[in-house]
Amino acid sequence: MENLKSKKLIGYYGFPGRSVLKSVRERFGRDLELVDLDVARDAPDSRIIQSTTCRIIANIVDNAMELSNKLVAIVADVGEGKCDRGRYAAFLLKEEGFNVIESRFLPEQFEKRPLVYSTAEGSLAERVDRIMEMVVQPPPPDNHKRACEPTHGFWGVPPHDFRILDIFPPTTHIYGWTRCVEAGSPGDLEMECYVGENVPTVFFTQSFCAKQDLAHHLAEKYDGLFIDCHRDVNNSILSKVEAFIKLSYPGQ
Ligand code: SF4
Repeated sequence: MENLKSKKLIGYYGFPGRSVLKSVRERFGRDLELVDLDVARDAPDSRIIQSTTCRIIANIVDNAMELSNKLVAIVADVGEGKCDRGRYAAFLLKEEGFNVIESRFLPEQFEKRPLVYSTAEGSLAERVDRIMEMVVQPPPPDNHKRACEPTHGFWGVPPHDFRILDIFPPTTHIYGWTRCVEAGSPGDLEMECYVGENVPTVFFTQSFCAKQDLAHHLAEKYDGLFIDCHRDVNNSILSKVEAFIKLSYPGQ
């Protein structure tokens, strides 16, 4: 729980609607720090979630339990932009006594923002981080980044263990849910299923995530690599991805 020095915090997960997040901040204090509960923060196992649950949901619940009464509210994405497990986590957290405010990012709220970080050249991990910051802080309209020609694609949600991102070349385009977040359109299934033509793509999901069905289908359709990972990535997963990157684009 490093870097979380504030006495009181507002937790959130997924991509809550802008108006819900704004009204919660107005109600509890605009100066309160916002904390993304999806992210791995070394919280101890709360034992509320069974071991065969997606690691991101376990992060949400374990982080909330560890932060405990520092959290004045949790803004929970319980809509199609997240997943049923996000909705059930909201219920479990309410049962634990948290003040949970539910949010659904509806299609009529989709922002359809231009893509910058999904298509720019640069460290994949840093670009995924920048995109996730947009959930609470939309970027200025133009940050001078320009699209590059993709040599590879990464499809999926931000992983529990970011080390998997470090092996992708800087010319990797971002697809799937993370791309939808940059566009301000979580839950846009058409966008979530888009990948560039002939771009060798790794379709990544956390284990026990419903998106495995999509990832498997898309990997077959586009001749990509389907990979899932539960907790930390291991050498076998890293080697598989590394080999795919090298073999699909010998220049790497
Ligand atoms: S990884 Fe999948 S199951 Fe887990 S929170 Fe994200 S969408 Fe839900």
